[in-house]
Amino acid sequence: MERYNRNILIKEIGTKGQNILLKSKILVAGAGGLGSTVITSLACMGVGSIGIIDDDSVELSNLNRQYIHNIKSISKFKTDSAQEWVEKFNPDIEINTYRLRFDHSYSALLSYYDLVIDCFDSYKSKFVLNDACIKKNKILIHGGVSEFYGQVLKVIPNKTACLRCLFPDKENLPNEIKGVISPSISTIGSIQSMEALKHILKLEEKALENTLLFFNGLKQSYKKIQIHKNKKCLICN
Ligand SMILES: [Zn+2]
Repeated sequence: MERYNRNILIKEIGTKGQNILLKSKILVAGAGGLGSTVITSLACMGVGSIGIIDDDSVELSNLNRQYIHNIKSISKFKTDSAQEWVEKFNPDIEINTYRLRFDHSYSALLSYYDLVIDCFDSYKSKFVLNDACIKKNKILIHGGVSEFYGQVLKVIPNKTACLRCLFPDKENLPNEIKGVISPSISTIGSIQSMEALKHILKLEEKALENTLLFFNGLKQSYKKIQIHKNKKCLICN
């Protein structure tokens, strides 16, 4: 508990909340840029069990942002490299790694977790994850980043708008490589982690339900955009 003293001093957390965090289980989909911030934040907060899905290996060009990996991680699987970081930082945390390209056949692995955080980097993977969360009735905290911009959305299955409601035409976009800068990823990953904390401790004020938070790093602005379930959504209806 000494380790988590500064968490516990927050009245909304306290010893009771810390114990809830230590018993919580969160699945992080993607161990790249967003995953680096989300996994390290969850490990700092003392989330007791973290699952990590990724099928990629670390490349040199990842290291402008994916700080959970390092120069010695190059060519290692990102799941292994992320696991090593967590084990060194906080050995009390249970880590489950899933070295696989997520598709519908893996939906069952969501059942073990309290919620899922979308740190994937392509819309194709994000949609598959979105669909699996709705099917398995798991809360999804979506995050996406490009260049100086980013967005976060919380999806409550069958209750609030999902990713497909919002972007019905993005699924088949070609996965072109775009530039991205570390501070915008860290900002979005931190907001996702805060949403996860609030959900686990039931501290939320429905801030990002049916609401897309859009971040513009150039203007340093956050915009909340009201959205609704799409009656034509292939998944929600
Ligand atoms: Zn939908």
